[in-house]
Amino acid sequence: MLLRRALAVCLPTQAPVTTQLRNASMAAELPLSHSAVVSQCRVLTPPKASAACPPAWARSHTSDKSAPSKKCWDCKVPVDQRTPHFCGTCKKIQPPTYSANQFQILGIPTTFDVDAERLEARYKALQKALHPDKFSTASPQEQAFSDAQASAVNSAYDTLRSPLRRARALLRLQGIEPEESAGVDDPELLAYVMEAREEVEGTRSRAGLETLLRDNREREAAAVARLRAAFAAAEWAAAAEAVNRLRYIERIQEAIREKL
Ligand SMILES: [Zn+2]
Repeated sequence: MLLRRALAVCLPTQAPVTTQLRNASMAAELPLSHSAVVSQCRVLTPPKASAACPPAWARSHTSDKSAPSKKCWDCKVPVDQRTPHFCGTCKKIQPPTYSANQFQILGIPTTFDVDAERLEARYKALQKALHPDKFSTASPQEQAFSDAQASAVNSAYDTLRSPLRRARALLRLQGIEPEESAGVDDPELLAYVMEAREEVEGTRSRAGLETLLRDNREREAAAVARLRAAFAAAEWAAAAEAVNRLRYIERIQEAIREKL
């Protein structure tokens, strides 16, 4: 019954005829498994995510556990895709999964609110396990796998440790390019950006630059809080706007740091 309700919520209210037919045939096939509901949500969910149909990035994480297994290239036993870097049976390194997103590569939940300590710990553990020294006597194929895996882990970590890059990655999982889909309609912020640029260019003293940096960091914290709230509410347009807001603020910060 819950699944039937969840499915009903996933469907657009004005479903086209083909979708209605599909809905009727799906209802006839109930009860559906959880993975079937998730898969139907992918096809039929309206633009705004709901609790019953979580956003794509949340689904991509929840569906990790039921992701189809890939077989180990060596012993042919299926590899657990929650720990895809090595075969759990023969322990051999595996080729990278090119469709994996940054969160899956590091094995952490797909959310804006990442646990910084967990992210750091996962990164260090993978970096150690994939270090080229460990594969110096391995076959050229395994060395190539370790290089590709290590590079993917470094790139994913670099994305996830920055709130701005992490937010962009989450929006891209929704099919949204923030720079293309939202501007910042805030005269106060735009005035700050123009004034701060002039001040950074005109300020020679370290104390003056540090004052500008303190003010910038406060604005950065407020912009990150907006982002967190937007993602928590699954408000993608607000998240895209907050990404662009944060981008303006971080550019000023880069200019200040270059002079410090
Ligand atoms: Zn194996």
